[in-house]
This record gives sequence, structure tokens and C-alpha cells, in this order.
Amino acid sequence: MTTRRRFIEILPIAGSAAWLSACSKETPAPGPAPTPAPSPSPAPVSATPMPAAATPSPPAAAAGPLTMVDEKDPAAQSLGYVSDAKRSDAARFKNYASGQACNNCQLYGGGTAASGPCPLFAGRAVASSGWCSAYVKKTG
Ligand code: SF4
Repeated sequence: MTTRRRFIEILPIAGSAAWLSACSKETPAPGPAPTPAPSPSPAPVSATPMPAAATPSPPAAAAGPLTMVDEKDPAAQSLGYVSDAKRSDAARFKNYASGQACNNCQLYGGGTAASGPCPLFAGRAVASSGWCSAYVKKTG
């Protein structure tokens, strides 16, 4: 039988750590790991709508008619562009032939319009009746 004196004698040696741990509520219980606490609910969504992201505006060329190519433009002069094929410099550009015009050139993008884009003059328009030395007969 353990006396009170004996209990007091052994308590500091063997029992203090066990005693304290037995009384502690921080000791993990055996068994499966505790499940984590549920995460807090997401922040409430603001009732104020967010402003829409800026959308890129279309190119200026798409907003209106293209600027016509000026015959005095250095690129136009080097290609011999004229707004009326009948005024083409046949002496300078031997490849010119009567009947050639932008509206029957492969590069003309204006369809049946009086003027339209040409990739040689990006962002500008040429006259359907025009001509330049880069003329390529439209096929098909
Ligand atoms: Fe006209 Fe064709 Fe010359 Fe363009 S390439 S300017 S469409 S003739």
C-alpha cells in the first residue's frame, strides 16, 4: 500500500511529467488525425458591378474611308502610281498596256468600289481607275 509520504516522494521524479501531460488538454488523442476546421466563407461579393475592361478600339482605317494615295507621295512616284491609268508614263513604265487599271489588278481590294485598299499602300486607298508599275492582271 502506498502511503501518502511515499506518494509525495515519487511524485516529483516519475509522476510530474506524466501528471502534467495527463492533465494537459493539448495532448493529441489517439486515432485519425483531426479534420481541419472549415475555412471561413468567402468574402461577400460586392453588389456594385466592376467596370468592364477597356476593349480595344478598331483601327482607325476601319472607322471610316481610307485616305487616297497622293500621286506626289514618294512611294507612289517610285511605282508610277496615277489615279487615272490613261495618264500612266508609258515611256518610263514599259509594262503598261491599255486597259490595265487598279480595278482589274490582282492586288486591288476595293471590289467594284471607286476606290479601295492596295497592299502596296497600306492604310490608304487607290482609285479603281488608277495604275502603277506593280500591276498584276487579275485572274479568276
Ligand atoms: Fe493599282 Fe495594282 Fe498598282 Fe495597287 S498594285 S496601285 S491595285 S495597279
